[in-house]
Amino acid sequence: MTQPRTTADWQALGRQHLLAPFSDYKQLGAKGARIIQRADGVYLWDSEGRKILDAMAGLWCVNVGYGRRELADATHRQMLELPYYNLFFQTAHPPAIELAAAIAEIAPAGMRHVFFAGSGSEANDTVLRLVRHYWAIKDQPQKKVIIGRINGYHGSTVAGASLGGMKAMHGQGDLPIPGIEHIAQPYWYGEGGAMDPQAFGEWAAEELEKKILEVGEERVAAFIAEPIQGAGGVIIPPQSYWPRVRKILARYDILFVADEVICGFGRTGEWFGSQYYGLEPDLMPIAKGLTSGYLPMGGVIVRDHVAQTLAEGGEFYHGYTYSGHPVAAAVALENIRILREEKIVERVKAETAPYLQKRWQELADHPLVGEARGLGMLGALELVQDKKSRTRFPGGIGMRCREHCFANGLIMRAVGDTMIVSPPLVIDREEIDALIGLVRTCLDATARELAG
Ligand code: PMP
Repeated sequence: MTQPRTTADWQALGRQHLLAPFSDYKQLGAKGARIIQRADGVYLWDSEGRKILDAMAGLWCVNVGYGRRELADATHRQMLELPYYNLFFQTAHPPAIELAAAIAEIAPAGMRHVFFAGSGSEANDTVLRLVRHYWAIKDQPQKKVIIGRINGYHGSTVAGASLGGMKAMHGQGDLPIPGIEHIAQPYWYGEGGAMDPQAFGEWAAEELEKKILEVGEERVAAFIAEPIQGAGGVIIPPQSYWPRVRKILARYDILFVADEVICGFGRTGEWFGSQYYGLEPDLMPIAKGLTSGYLPMGGVIVRDHVAQTLAEGGEFYHGYTYSGHPVAAAVALENIRILREEKIVERVKAETAPYLQKRWQELADHPLVGEARGLGMLGALELVQDKKSRTRFPGGIGMRCREHCFANGLIMRAVGDTMIVSPPLVIDREEIDALIGLVRTCLDATARELAG
């Protein structure tokens, strides 16, 4: 049993031993971490007993909300039945097989195989290995280059961070690794300048074709992209973007990887973001909403022609100890059952996402908000000093706004000066009203701080 500790005790102990992800250790050490102790529905409670609306669903993952007993029960049952076994060396177990079949049922038509991993990053490591293996089997081993996008996010492992286009991450440790290229992102608000959004979307799409021609089709293995960039700042491409990308992809013999780690499992109001945009990926990395974050798990959903090719390629020397972990698989199965039986994705599409988006748009009238955009259960606010010219505040204000959110019981993330939300899919109308109210309170507090 852990002894009861105060917030200061937890912070001190953490400072002594814990290296947290994506943290400035000196800063965190001076300030002390916020200690989250329990959660229920869309709310968290910290070690001071404060109630916090989690408008980020953890890290975009707690799709069915916190406190689902069925998921705890599934864990308990599976732990007693078979807590661990692997899928190596011609063995398998019922939870992994059943989960692969359940995913095939909800995935786009013609995507009926799944390779399991432990996280989204691992899923993208698998993508990198798998697409190169695929082309080698097809006697085109020189097709190795993968095209990603600047400011895309595909994870934090060496392959994930290389496929992603986060400059700060590349700066630490000679990334990207060789064989990865990046093209412009379809971020009109930040980078569209005087261009009309639709023209900008087409321009950004054409960057793909330019890159394919520059590298040479015979060397390009795949293009990887998130249907909507999440960590980059909930970047919803102009409507012209995906149709133009699809046309380009149809002209070249390269694989298309839609990273569904955030968009998958209902976030857009469809099961997958690819379905929302009518994309036909060859591979779809998944994680997060697969288990609603209750246990770590990722995977790659594979189109039939890719699976058939793999079947001709001899042994694929790739896999993880926890590929298809039985307890994680049992939780994922139960999570998918909940999503289906409670019609959570349908409710997002028909009811709660339209309501969230209607209310989110109201925030556009706030003096700090240059753009309020959203789709499904995703939202972003661009904070600016001048709305017309889209000019940012010198030095940025996103982090200050985020502090006001914490102080007022709201978790909203700051990506530079883009404030973003991605609440649990089970959030109801009343909770959406509470969310909008809190966001406005925090924007007002930020504005007052700037004025004072
Ligand atoms: N791909 C995308 C689109 C993501 O948003 C993330 C995580 N934010 C990842 C991959 C990496 O997933 P993980 O953190 O589980 O490794």
